[in-house]
Amino acid sequence: MTRVALVTGGTRGIGEAISVALKAAGYDVAASYAGNDTAAKAFQSKTGIAVYKFDVGDFNACKTAIERIQSERGQVDVLVNNAGITRDAAFHRMTPEQWREVISTDLDSVFNVTRNVYEGMRTRGFGRIINISSINGQKGQFGQCNYSAAKAGMIGFTKALAQEGAAKGVTVNCIAPGYIGTEMVRAVQPEVLNTKIIPQIPVGRLGEPEEVARCVVFLASDDAGFLTGSTLTANGGQYIA
Ligand code: NDP
Repeated sequence: MTRVALVTGGTRGIGEAISVALKAAGYDVAASYAGNDTAAKAFQSKTGIAVYKFDVGDFNACKTAIERIQSERGQVDVLVNNAGITRDAAFHRMTPEQWREVISTDLDSVFNVTRNVYEGMRTRGFGRIINISSINGQKGQFGQCNYSAAKAGMIGFTKALAQEGAAKGVTVNCIAPGYIGTEMVRAVQPEVLNTKIIPQIPVGRLGEPEEVARCVVFLASDDAGFLTGSTLTANGGQYIA
């Protein structure tokens, strides 16, 4: 039977590559997004993947949307917690709003979405939960106390839930990407990219969204059943965790 995969923030950037790769691997994919209807429509017409708009920071919105996804497509077997934002500021200037927005979207979301699919996975004896963390959750980053805290929190969540889910066939893993050539990163001035960012990456280039997506496809597969609680570091050697 076709497995159902939900990719949060699955309409743009790394999430788009993950949605496309999971569809190519045979999954029935639901891609969620927050508010950029234009990007979501363009993604849907290009890929044929169904899109669902809801705020991953809002537990009740997640519950309602996931009920709808499951009634339209079937129970979610694979969840990719990918939606994320940044609100950078040095800590002495960081506002409570910048802190809360990032914790809500990048970390509360992991509870809000996972909690609404996990019991079904346990009952059916199969599930794959894949959390997209970040190199900056592993090493910390100036100007990102909020983001580094949220992304490190995902790693702790992964280790704890992996222990709970293991006996029920539910694996929980993280991927911690380094600099990936998404629109946002490619929009950085070429001079800054070439003189400041790329020299920090031993493989000498940015990662591609598809490289993260291939990690997800592997972690979602039956072949990855013995892998749980791990963090897969995909950063071109920039930080060896
Ligand atoms: P993008 O900004 O390109 O896309 C973010 C996606 O998340 C969009 O689909 C967006 O929806 C959705 N989203 C944002 N906020 C919410 C919300 N409150 N509710 C629901 N959906 C939401 O992100 P990237 O592809 O750059 O990053 C994807 C993930 O990878 C993030 O978790 C990020 O932290 C992580 N990461 C990225 C790296 C990089 O180099 N790009 C490096 C390391 C980690 P909409 O289109 O409606 O705004």
